[in-house]
Amino acid sequence: MTALDVPEVPARLVFAGGEWSEGRARVIERTASWRRTSALAQLGLWLLAPVVFWIPPHIPWVLLVLGVGAMRALNRFREHRTLVSLRGPCPKCGTEQEFRELGRMRNPHAVHCSNCRWELRVDVPLPGAAT
Ligand SMILES: [Zn+2]
Repeated sequence: MTALDVPEVPARLVFAGGEWSEGRARVIERTASWRRTSALAQLGLWLLAPVVFWIPPHIPWVLLVLGVGAMRALNRFREHRTLVSLRGPCPKCGTEQEFRELGRMRNPHAVHCSNCRWELRVDVPLPGAAT
């Protein structure tokens, strides 16, 4: 599935003061099976542990690979929604822009305006939810 296969939906960009503007977002809703499979794939990084063990000072590299693998797997397991694209005007300064803080969507998900640097909250209604 590529980013362009995902339909664009209305998203609300909310500034702390309550002002908001309407943007457009592409969001992939992840299923439980995708999250499980993807988390397991990230654990595949652990297969590197016996390889990096041969690089001195040995143990720190193994711990690093195990730690990074576990972290990536945990993040995938928590990835209920993926923000693929987000564009719209900043409610504070009005600058039309393409936001780059994409990937795993946090709850609430925050992005920053490239012009005024203020933090904006992103609200994308769940599919089927009344707005
Ligand atoms: Zn701004």
